[in-house]
Amino acid sequence: MKYDHLVLGSGLAGLSFAALMSQRGKSVCVLEAHEFPGGYGHTFTMADKYTFNAQLHYVWDCGDNQPVGQFLRALGIRDRVSFDKFDSLAYERMRALGLSLDIPYDYELLIERLIELFPSNSHNLASFVRLVAATGKALRGYGGASRHAPFAKRSLSFIRLIRNVNSTLQEVFDDFSIPPEAQTLLALQWPCFMLPPRKVSFLAWVALVDGYHGGAYSVSRSFEFFVDSLVEIIQENGGEVLYNRKVVDFVFAKEQCVGAISEDTDTQLDKCEHLADAVVCNFDPKRAAEMIGLERFSSSVRRRLDYQYSPSNFIAYCAVEGLDLTEHGFGQSIFYHTSRMDLNAAYDEMYSLGNYERPSFAISTPSLHASQHQSCPPEIQLLELVTVADYQRFHDLKRINRRAYRRKKQEILDSMLDVIEKKYIPDIRKHLAYTVGGTPTTNERYCFSPRGNSYGSNLTPAHFGLNRLDERTSINGLYFCNASAGFPGFVGTICTGMRLFEILKE
Ligand SMILES: Cc1cc2nc3c(=O)[nH]c(=O)nc-3n(C[C@H](O)[C@H](O)[C@H](O)COP(=O)(O)OP(=O)(O)OC[C@H]3O[C@@H](n4cnc5c(N)ncnc54)[C@H](O)[C@@H]3O)c2cc1C
Repeated sequence: MKYDHLVLGSGLAGLSFAALMSQRGKSVCVLEAHEFPGGYGHTFTMADKYTFNAQLHYVWDCGDNQPVGQFLRALGIRDRVSFDKFDSLAYERMRALGLSLDIPYDYELLIERLIELFPSNSHNLASFVRLVAATGKALRGYGGASRHAPFAKRSLSFIRLIRNVNSTLQEVFDDFSIPPEAQTLLALQWPCFMLPPRKVSFLAWVALVDGYHGGAYSVSRSFEFFVDSLVEIIQENGGEVLYNRKVVDFVFAKEQCVGAISEDTDTQLDKCEHLADAVVCNFDPKRAAEMIGLERFSSSVRRRLDYQYSPSNFIAYCAVEGLDLTEHGFGQSIFYHTSRMDLNAAYDEMYSLGNYERPSFAISTPSLHASQHQSCPPEIQLLELVTVADYQRFHDLKRINRRAYRRKKQEILDSMLDVIEKKYIPDIRKHLAYTVGGTPTTNERYCFSPRGNSYGSNLTPAHFGLNRLDERTSINGLYFCNASAGFPGFVGTICTGMRLFEILKE
């Protein structure tokens, strides 16, 4: 059988595209190497009762007139998939060596809170936050939802953006003489980029900060429900989602890409050919290009494909029993902690030196984020701790010395739990019913992400600027559709799928 669209990978960008196309009556087949759909948004169950989402914690742009709302309306499931908005007083809670900053949705309130902490820097802090707000507005005006905005408006946005397109967050902090402690509090959500202020693109940072300022959300029933709803739409419309089918090659007829070859992921046997009018690659574009042969791509696409991967991460998935985390201040927000004020140094210590004695990390409580969460028994609450980790270190340890690999996992977990016990939840260890750690090699094994990368291509100015890869491959019949060929994150990848749908729908 020949399909209209063959989608390689069931990550959020691929599934979004496939659901929209199926809904439109096109024949669609999705090939997924893993046994679950969703890529980094997949859900897994441990010990038969604790259900964790691999990587999603909080998302933005899910209000009615925002892109995710529009996407769900286009699929006819807006009423079925609802979202809970995070705490209006603080959707993020930054904690750094005795200093606290709770991040509200309102920029002016944020300025007030910053000025309370740093009264002698009121002018610089207010100017900085207003630049963030203006840049966020320009990003929205230029990109995604407003692509059809009048030319003059888009040009104005473009001019605003181009000014900072090559800047890191640190460079902008320095331009505004932001005091070091304020820098730390403002940039403490660094795990959302897996980069410190010295490396992260200012525009990437603004896109996320401004996104959450417009509303931070969780899916009321769970991210699993969201992913399953997309799969259902594909299947109800006659499409197929085939699991455990790993793509190992592409099929060409002359210069046109006309399909892909898959094999059983576990046995590496049972090779099948799948043909389609359009092949949409949701897995890493660089890996696909290497499979195909880089020489087949134009020089400009080759240049865009020459990206570095975003650093990998360590995540501890924990089930807490006999304890109500809301009594310790947790709820519909994410906590960010650092044990070292200088975030650039804290990051280097963990990532480059592998030293987690003074960790900086995110604390997420998924079962408190969603009102209809049913991912664990009622007496259990979920707690997840996320920080950066170097792929090569874990890869080598796992290969050379499995015991040392397990010791390193335990060491990172212990150092984060020591902080939790001391600062946030005394006796947390006594209440841990279950804990499992995900490392860079876990990402590689279950999400097939090269070098266990977190966000696809690295979110530095070099990769988040004008030279960023998009759906264009320069090969007839082949399109990229993933975080590195569009934008990462829940909304970033859904918009990437929507955008490709708009291009190919006729
Ligand atoms: C630590 C961490 C925390 C995050 N937290 C958030 C958050 O709170 N909010 C948010 O919005 N975003 C978050 N993200 C980002 C978000 O999860 C990702 O950007 C997004 O899910 C990526 O989607 P994607 O479509 O690019 O594909 P991926 O998720 O990369 O999926 C690609 C799919 O392709 C499959 N595949 C790979 N190779 C093959 C092959 N050869 N054949 C067949 N299939 C293949 C994979 O198994 C996978 O299912 C987080 C990411 C990380 C790492």
